[in-house]
Amino acid sequence: MKQVYFTAGPAEMYPTFEKHLLTAVEQQLGSISHRSQKFRSIYQFTVEQLRTLMNIPDTHGIFFTGSASEVWERVVQNCVEHESFHLVNGSFSKKFYEYSASLRKYAHKQEKPFGEGFDYAEVEVPEYAELICVTHNETSSGVQMREPDIHKLKRSNLKKLIAVDMVSSAPYPELDFGVVDTAFFSVQKAFGLPAGLGVWIANEKCLAKAERLQKYEDATIGAHNSLPMLWKNFKNYETPATPNVIGIYLLGKVAEDLNKIGAETVRKQTEEKYKLLNKYIETSRAFSPSVAEERHRSRTVVVANTRIPSPEVIAQVKQANMIVGSGYGPFKESQIRIANFPAVSFEQVEALIGELKKLEN
Ligand SMILES: *Cc1c(COP(=O)(O)O)cnc(C)c1O
Repeated sequence: MKQVYFTAGPAEMYPTFEKHLLTAVEQQLGSISHRSQKFRSIYQFTVEQLRTLMNIPDTHGIFFTGSASEVWERVVQNCVEHESFHLVNGSFSKKFYEYSASLRKYAHKQEKPFGEGFDYAEVEVPEYAELICVTHNETSSGVQMREPDIHKLKRSNLKKLIAVDMVSSAPYPELDFGVVDTAFFSVQKAFGLPAGLGVWIANEKCLAKAERLQKYEDATIGAHNSLPMLWKNFKNYETPATPNVIGIYLLGKVAEDLNKIGAETVRKQTEEKYKLLNKYIETSRAFSPSVAEERHRSRTVVVANTRIPSPEVIAQVKQANMIVGSGYGPFKESQIRIANFPAVSFEQVEALIGELKKLEN
């Protein structure tokens, strides 16, 4: 019996995944050279589909890495000489901060307790921070930072670069790439694809910064997947190292499928499913919202406190062939996490709620 995965990543595969994978096998994409015209066309196609889906202008290059956490390191190496600044409110945003500290940067942070989010007005950016790092969707706690707050943060700090971790929400957020300098995601979250591919979007300002750092004797932008190297290859739709060709192909095809539905409709569907889940959790006797402020509640990873231990909840829904995630870290037993990605339908969310209701007695 097939399971429906409501986990936040790896997650349920997008419904057309299998069809596209079969085509990839038929076309022998596992064997083609990444210096061939065939690969260049695949890279270009994926870039064009992502530009349409996420409204990414030509000022930004789109690059492929091994994962999103690799991009945490690349962004800091290529865009920070001395100081970065991080909004930390959960495990992933904290790791981004720790990467910067490990790279021997002066990493500043503003921190909030687990389950709380940031509004623009309360953020205090240190004077000498070169890069502001925000997490649109903190997957561990189910907290979002709304796009207008992210945009205001950049507009009031125009001389600094801003990086947005949109790993567990892309393509849902409506980021304005007129102000967002760099953003990144992985494909095993909301795109519903197998893991093994990170996507890094960065503009010419990030490139200029990396090129400047490259000239300094006491700074290093690293050897692997440096931004100038990625950009040089990107101009020919190539990659410095041998990439995940099948992953890039699948991403282009799923992005094309989402474009057929339309970014706006995909967003609306996400919101409708979110409302259904949120309303149930707010009124349920077995669950309660883990994020107090509704405006900070993630639209793509819904987190709930459970009255009974979460392993019992997980076991109950598993009987109906549905998989929900446990809480993160110390909240493993007291919370569940439900991914609300495009791969799961309204009907599947309704069915999940039906199962959860059985736990109310
Ligand atoms: C999953 C996740 C990451 C890391 O992605 P990987 O593909 O595992 O490297 C980073 N940030 C957030 C918010 C995530 O959810």
